[in-house]
Amino acid sequence: MRRNPRLRGQLFISYLFLLMLTLTVMTLALLLFLFAQPVPPSLTYEKLLTIGRDVLQQAGIGSQQSALTLLQVRNLVQQLPRLAADNDTRILIIDMPTRTIITDSAAVFARTDQIRLTQESYTLQIPLRNRFGIHGEPIFGSLWDKDGSEWFFSGITIIRQNQETSAIVLAEPRPQQTFPLVLDRFRQELALPLCQSAVVGLIVAALLAAFSSRTLVRPLSRLEQAAESVAAGSHDQLVPEDGPVEIRALAAAFNRMSGEVNSTQQAQKEFMANVSHDLKTPLTSIQGYSQAIVDGAAKDPAHAARIIFEEASRLNRMVTELTDLARLQAGQMSMQHRPVDIHQLVLMVGERLSIIARERGLQLHLQSDPVPEVIGDGDRLAQVLTNLVSNAMKYTPSGGEISLRTQVNNGGVEVVVRDTGIGIAPDDLSRIFERFYQVDKARGPRRGTGLGLAITHEIVQAHGGRITVTSAGQGKGSTFTVWLPSAHLNTVVRGQK
Ligand code: ADP
Repeated sequence: MRRNPRLRGQLFISYLFLLMLTLTVMTLALLLFLFAQPVPPSLTYEKLLTIGRDVLQQAGIGSQQSALTLLQVRNLVQQLPRLAADNDTRILIIDMPTRTIITDSAAVFARTDQIRLTQESYTLQIPLRNRFGIHGEPIFGSLWDKDGSEWFFSGITIIRQNQETSAIVLAEPRPQQTFPLVLDRFRQELALPLCQSAVVGLIVAALLAAFSSRTLVRPLSRLEQAAESVAAGSHDQLVPEDGPVEIRALAAAFNRMSGEVNSTQQAQKEFMANVSHDLKTPLTSIQGYSQAIVDGAAKDPAHAARIIFEEASRLNRMVTELTDLARLQAGQMSMQHRPVDIHQLVLMVGERLSIIARERGLQLHLQSDPVPEVIGDGDRLAQVLTNLVSNAMKYTPSGGEISLRTQVNNGGVEVVVRDTGIGIAPDDLSRIFERFYQVDKARGPRRGTGLGLAITHEIVQAHGGRITVTSAGQGKGSTFTVWLPSAHLNTVVRGQK
């Protein structure tokens, strides 16, 4: 795999989604905020002032004229209802110093009525001021109608000939907040910055997606290549354990798996080499001696026949043991799950082997006490004890001692097989349970197969137990301890098959 566009695309889409979500939430929040805000009067002020200018023009009042004649004022008052109707607005003329109504196009206020009015300071935008010839300074603010409702107004100050200051005031009810109004403000004030942030966010999301996908895809590609190599038969593949935690964990798991596959392959190779070698040795011997008999070259045919018989027996044993081991390791060995009295088992095996021990000049001590029963296969457990005692007898010179003891320990039952034999060097202790492992193949006449302890180990494990070995060193004897869980001692029986 070179690159993973899908991963990058997915990351980009998720970043984009997050970005869009954030912007949508922000937009909604801003809209709500704007909706809760009062409508600013500025728009109304400017609109009314523009209409005011038109009204004055329509009334025939010159834009530069600063004072009005009495006639002009009378005309204006007369025309006011029409001008207001034409321009769709309400026009009032107010005597400013006294806040007294001169006329009201809506005819709500009568002449000489007092009106409540507050002026706001508002600076007009310059273009409007330039376009507009103002009679004095424009005024802005709110006035209150008779029913108490608030109106925004813009006014143009005019000076009557009698020097009284009046204002032509155009008024409009204070606008209510509406959604189109809010949208309009949003479009005018906030849409652009939001779009700009969306573009920046988009670029950042693309960069982030490219960066994250690279840091993710690169180790994944390495893993894929390594896995392909393992599949192609190159088992010693290791990938660097770096990147994000999950990828590191994946790489570590891959390395463990690859190590496991590698060592299994190695063991498999060694096993094949050992099997062929160990099967070949007795076969060669059988071939040689039988050939000698056939050729009449054997000086002592009976001796040759005995050797052939012994070697054939060994071959038979080896094949049986190999089959046992393979079945045990594959979990295919049928095992019974019955209560087993280990004390009785020790006595039985000890008795059976005591004759051979005696023949070999060895003392076999049975120091067994009754112990709680274990659940398992009595025949297989007897095989375990037989293997251990046979080994002890095999590797203990004449005059030595072998003891067999039972005890309760660590919530289970233990059988300890101790001998005063040749012992085992510390380096060999850890390998003793491997298939075909023999401490010194060249040592003495080889009677064993190197499979006994491997089988013993498998049987004990299948009972949920464990087997350990200690030795003070070569020539100082060995001690094998088998621990088995006992249901009576509240231990859990694990791994039973
Ligand atoms: P073998 O058929 O060779 O006895 P095992 O698997 O039973 O195979 O034992 C593996 C090797 O462990 C033996 O070859 C021997 O070197 C060593 N061994 C086993 N038991 C003892 C013991 N009691 N004392 C010393 N060495 C032992």
